[in-house]
Amino acid sequence: MDYNKVFCEISKSLESYHDNGKVASYIPELKKVAPIKFGVHLCTVTGENYQFGDSEEKFSIQSICKVLSLTLAFEIEQEDLWKRVGVEPSGNPFNSLVQLEYDEGIPRNPFINAGAIVVADVLVSKLENPKRDFLDFVRKLSGNNTINYSERIAQSEKSKGHRNAALCNLMKSFGNIENNIHEVIEFYFDLCSIEMTCEELARTFLFLANYGKDPISGNQIVSSSKSKRINAVMQLCGLYDEAGEFSFKVGLPGKSGVGGGIAVVHPGKYSMVVWSPRLNKKGNSNKGMQFLEEFTSYTESSIF
Ligand code: GLN
Repeated sequence: MDYNKVFCEISKSLESYHDNGKVASYIPELKKVAPIKFGVHLCTVTGENYQFGDSEEKFSIQSICKVLSLTLAFEIEQEDLWKRVGVEPSGNPFNSLVQLEYDEGIPRNPFINAGAIVVADVLVSKLENPKRDFLDFVRKLSGNNTINYSERIAQSEKSKGHRNAALCNLMKSFGNIENNIHEVIEFYFDLCSIEMTCEELARTFLFLANYGKDPISGNQIVSSSKSKRINAVMQLCGLYDEAGEFSFKVGLPGKSGVGGGIAVVHPGKYSMVVWSPRLNKKGNSNKGMQFLEEFTSYTESSIF
């Protein structure tokens, strides 16, 4: 299928679309991004690439990184990981504290902030040099040695990270954080600060569209069973308290971030990233969701 043509058609149909979302402002540096940016990139498992708009511009991937940190932690901890974090949708905002109290410090899933902080704690325990080793892993997945953290974004979030620190403290009080709170939270903010283009990020997610094997390098990143499970958690939890709506409208496993990116995979077919910085009330890209809904409808390529 000529996806370039499809991208053009959908963008045209969205010309009159009024995006009333707002660029994330609780991380001061994210406020500086131009709201009108819009990019798309799709990689097929057979090595074709299609793009549109600002697809070669770097943006802050934020929570999309949680899929990558989960992948590495799952590979290291195997099934033991699920003793410390669940796989249930939370139905609550991504930074919510409420369920942790009832669930005795075990986050509902690895994609809400609490869960991603536990995953970060696992990596701090198990990696020799967490920041360096994690970046090496992401570079291997992306086939690109220039991918990096943004010191500027990380510092900006660290200056306002009180809520995430509260989550970390609460979990520590229940015994579900092994390391020094400061170290864990700093590493979590570093993870969220990684910058990529739509093209780089779609490429990075390609192994999840191909049963755990990167079709370009031939590397088996994770087993097909793990790939299935990571996609399942994305399907149910990747868009927080909007995961049901996203399944309903788009019908693909996906992961969003407050930088305005959404990464989706269609197992056996493609990985795709859209980026549009204005967010809806749930912290997910407004136009990104709209575009993906039109895309899977037009191409009849939802997994359902
Ligand atoms: N770094 C952000 C935070 O912790 C990530 C949230 C997101 O992208 N949904 O609040």
